[in-house]
Amino acid sequence: MSAFRCPKCNSHTGVTDTRVAGKLRNSFIRRRRECERGHRFTTYETVAHVKVYGHGDTMMRKNTRAQKRLTQIKADFATAMEALNAIAGKL
Ligand SMILES: [Zn+2]
Repeated sequence: MSAFRCPKCNSHTGVTDTRVAGKLRNSFIRRRRECERGHRFTTYETVAHVKVYGHGDTMMRKNTRAQKRLTQIKADFATAMEALNAIAGKL
């Protein structure tokens, strides 16, 4: 089921442990994995959700601001996840 390959030998990997971390539940998932040849490493996953509240002109303004903020958050998360996975691959 897992498409994630071992960063050391490119073998198929399996999940040995899953933990949820972060302030919000499900905001951050850490998975411990092990490949067919016994290399162990950790991956981090996250999903960005956003809800926009308001009505009329207020919503239009809030929506624009929320979209800009969401774009920034997604970019920050992508950068952080890449860095974490790069580090995890070296452990
Ligand atoms: Zn491996």
